[in-house]
Amino acid sequence: MVIVLNPKATSEQINELTQEIEKEGCTACPTYGSFQVILGVVGDTSKLNQDRILIKDYVEKVLKVQEPYKKANRCFHPENSVVPIGQASIGGTKLGIIAGPCSVESEEQIVTIAKQVKAAGASFLRGGAYKPRTSPYSFQGLKEEGLDLLKIARQETGLPIVSELMAINTLDRFVQDVDIIQIGARNMQNFDLLKELGQTNKPILLKRGLSATIEEWLMSAEYIMAEGNENVILCERGIRTFETYTRNTLDLSAILAVKKLSHLPVLVDPSHAAGKWWMVESLSKAAVAVGADGLIIEVHNDPANAKCDGSQSIKPERFEALMQSLGQLARIENRTI
Ligand code: PEP
Ligand code: MN
Repeated sequence: MVIVLNPKATSEQINELTQEIEKEGCTACPTYGSFQVILGVVGDTSKLNQDRILIKDYVEKVLKVQEPYKKANRCFHPENSVVPIGQASIGGTKLGIIAGPCSVESEEQIVTIAKQVKAAGASFLRGGAYKPRTSPYSFQGLKEEGLDLLKIARQETGLPIVSELMAINTLDRFVQDVDIIQIGARNMQNFDLLKELGQTNKPILLKRGLSATIEEWLMSAEYIMAEGNENVILCERGIRTFETYTRNTLDLSAILAVKKLSHLPVLVDPSHAAGKWWMVESLSKAAVAVGADGLIIEVHNDPANAKCDGSQSIKPERFEALMQSLGQLARIENRTI
């Protein structure tokens, strides 16, 4: 932490602040410039109350030089994390490919799609049972029945299942039934929910919030990890910008930033980012090219009649073709699929 003092700060005030900092176990080293004094503070600065420092009229500003997240920080964990999911994992050399419909609609629908994406090479099946919809009049998901149908699809294919949890009151059911708990963009900062997830040891797919900065997203991961659950997988799904042509703006540079700042695996969701099925294949390739650890892709066998997000869902045949080209790309990137 660096504290920039007002040019009028007296030596008594500098001493007072230095003592206050040292009382908390940190060390403050002053540097005297021709106009101003700055204090370089080292030690565990999380113990310092920044507001109490800022409120002093002789303090001009306080600059943080260290990220506020610890457990998610690559500085304290230089190796890439690999999150185990039963026999599978996400975060190693093998790309984690999650595919399936936005929502579970019927047994026939989810089982058919599960078989198709498995045949094409997907490693995980997605399917929403509880849907966060903008309109309360839109399809809200099959809820508990949706989870039952996902379990049938898992039994038929062996694919681990990924589904979105929206509220604490269904957490136990998700812990029991689902292999990866997805936290959607709209709940990224539902801190009570994140704390509860931290008390489990389930893999958590944490999507980036609609307008969340990279630091806010990593702080949400920290909420889960601080409670003891380190099985966090991040997911970039596009952020809200001034552009309206696409549903969101896919922030591919966030993948590079997250990889530098954190050891956690990070996936890309090109479907919710673009909102258009015909962009999904190219964005998927771009995501792999920038170093994403995998993808979560919406695949539907009848997109025109899908209950949710049909216009951004690709058909199983296109998914199969995409998997072929991702295989070639993976080789160039020293990864497997
Ligand atoms: C979804 O994956 O179906 C979903 C609702 O995603 P997001 O939370 O990213 O909007
Ligand atoms: Mn969707």
